[in-house]
Amino acid sequence: MKLNGRRESSNVEDRRGLSGGQKTGLGIGGIIIVGLITLLMGGNPLDVLQQAGSMMGTEQQTTQREFTEEEQALAKFSKQILAGTEDVWTQIFKEHGATYQVPRMVLFTDGVQTGCGGATSSVGPFYCSADQALYLDLSFFSTMKQQLGADGDFAYAYVIAHEVGHHVEYLTGLLDQVHQKMQTVNETESNKLSVRLELLADFYAGVWANYDNKMFGSLEDGDIEKAINCAAVIGDDYLQKKARGYAIPESFNHGTSAQRMKWFKLGLQTGDISRGTTFQCSDEEL
Ligand SMILES: [Zn+2]
Repeated sequence: MKLNGRRESSNVEDRRGLSGGQKTGLGIGGIIIVGLITLLMGGNPLDVLQQAGSMMGTEQQTTQREFTEEEQALAKFSKQILAGTEDVWTQIFKEHGATYQVPRMVLFTDGVQTGCGGATSSVGPFYCSADQALYLDLSFFSTMKQQLGADGDFAYAYVIAHEVGHHVEYLTGLLDQVHQKMQTVNETESNKLSVRLELLADFYAGVWANYDNKMFGSLEDGDIEKAINCAAVIGDDYLQKKARGYAIPESFNHGTSAQRMKWFKLGLQTGDISRGTTFQCSDEEL
C-alpha cells in the first residue's frame, strides 16, 4: 500500500502498556463485536465478559513502556488507515445526504476495559458500540503473520476497515436492530444473523478499499490478493478445521472463507454500498 505523506487520524487513544486500561465498569449495555479470530487463539467469545470480571481488580499502571520501531510503525500505519476510513466514509455518507460520525480507535496491549465490558487480546480486534470505538492490540498483526500466513499491510488495513464496517452498521441503526433480534431467537438463528453482520462488514471493507484507491491511489500490485488471502484464512470453516480438525456449520458466526472473500470482493469491485445486501439474500445466496 502506498501511504506516503498520508495523514494520521487524531481520533486515537493510546493505552498501550497500561494494564487493564481505564475502569469503565461492566454491562453498560453496549454491543461488543468480538474479533475476527477468537477461535484461532483458542478463545471463546463468551470469555470476554468473564475475563472482564477478573480484570476489574487490576491495578492500573500509568506509565507506558518504550515501544519498538516495529510497534511504532504499526501504530502509525493503523492511524493512517483509520484516517483513510474517515475520509472515505465521510465522502460516502455525504453522497447519500448524511453525515458520518467518526469512531475512535483505542490501541491497547493484553487487556482493556470498554463500555461493553473488559476484553483481552485473545479475542482479536473488536468494535464496541457503547463507545463507538474499535479496539486494537497491534500484536494481533504479528499473530496474523505467524499463524495465518496473512502478511502484508493491505491485509492489516482490511482488518481495521472491517471493524470500521461494524461502526457503519451501528450508525445506520442496523447493528442495534439485529442484536435485538438475536436476543429473541435460538443460537443457530442468532449465529446466522451474526454471519450476515460480519459479511456486511467485509463488504464495507471492500467498499472502503475501492474509495481509498480512487481518492488516494493507495493500492499496489498484490495488495488485493493479500486482503483476499486474509479473508480466506479467517473464515469459520478454515479456522475450525485448523483448530479442531473439523467444522460445525451451525456454529459459524463470521461466515465461511468463500463467503468472506465474495463479499469483500463485491464491495471492492463495485464501490457501491447499495450492493451490500447480506440481509436481503437467502442463505444460499450469501
Ligand atoms: Zn466483525
